[in-house]
Amino acid sequence: MIVLSHADVARLLPPETAIDVVARTMQAVSRGEAELPLRSIVPVGGKNFMGVMPGRMSDPSCHGIKLVSLYPGNAAAGYSSHQGAMVLFEPDHGTAVALMDSGPLTARRTAAASAVATRALSRPGSTVLAMVGAGEQARHHLDTIMAVRPITELRIASRTLPSAIGFADHARARYPQLQIGIVGIDVQSAVEGADIVCTVTTSPAPILRGKWLSPGTHLNIVGASIPSKREVDDETVLRSSLFVDYRPSTFAQAGEVVDMIAAGTIGRDHVRAEIGEVLAGTAAGRTSEDEITLYRSLGIAAQDLACAHHCWRAAEASGMGVSAEL
Ligand code: NDP
Repeated sequence: MIVLSHADVARLLPPETAIDVVARTMQAVSRGEAELPLRSIVPVGGKNFMGVMPGRMSDPSCHGIKLVSLYPGNAAAGYSSHQGAMVLFEPDHGTAVALMDSGPLTARRTAAASAVATRALSRPGSTVLAMVGAGEQARHHLDTIMAVRPITELRIASRTLPSAIGFADHARARYPQLQIGIVGIDVQSAVEGADIVCTVTTSPAPILRGKWLSPGTHLNIVGASIPSKREVDDETVLRSSLFVDYRPSTFAQAGEVVDMIAAGTIGRDHVRAEIGEVLAGTAAGRTSEDEITLYRSLGIAAQDLACAHHCWRAAEASGMGVSAEL
């Protein structure tokens, strides 16, 4: 078995590589080439949860499980909100071949998934990016969205001003060419007129209102991973063409979709397509300049598996990581 640290995974999975791996993976998922049981969520006290995400893929052929602690208050103490381990198994003998830090894996594959959706659904000339939330995911989303669209302006909204300023400093250091506007807690000012909006918050209740959205905007709605949470109101969903990562998990765990179907506000057919179908050309993506497109990201084990498999192979080829015997 190879053991890969946080730094190893971060080096082996740069944003551009993660985007390529996730784009291939989403198509494989929509072709039915993965077994993806629903994520189990275990309350572990307070606002904290443990997520258990098993899965199997046929290309690359592997299976595995991600175990992740979800601690929304961690950032204040200097820890990542997502910590844990990914165990990767090879299919021939069922041997565990790699154990790696799932923090950077989760951060990179999630931001890559949003970039894949943004490349497929946003208007190609999109230049204005609004980031709602200023934590770990915001930093990774900035890198991947910058990789797929010619962003010149970044607007930042978050719960508290210090975190928005901290993110702005980070963004300025990385991308000096960007025009950066900090709007603090004023989400409306951030999203009005934006070409691309990413919500990457730990908020349990809607922070984005559909009435604020401009025609043609593309949304990546990422932050709410359990059915009791939602970042967007009903109007956002009703005004948008809705694209998802994986229908079964959307219908079980995307809070606003679950609520709206239960209330009879939308039917399952409100989901236009999985992103893998759009990428494969079997479903339409954006159909007009004015359409508002929404990519609902929940995150799926196939993204973790494919990225972990890439890291394992790349580590073997380059001699990175530590060999261990169980
Ligand atoms: P962090 O704790 O690092 O950052 C969360 C950010 O959300 C902070 O900037 C916080 O602001 C902000 N925030 C919280 N509440 C509000 C609010 N009401 N309005 C505006 N901003 C708010 O978390 P991460 O970046 O690691 O994760 C963000 C979310 O993404 C989590 O909920 C996580 O579960 C989810 N996630 C989703 C994945 C997927 O695949 N879809 C995968 C991984 C994570 P402040 O700092 O001021 O408190």
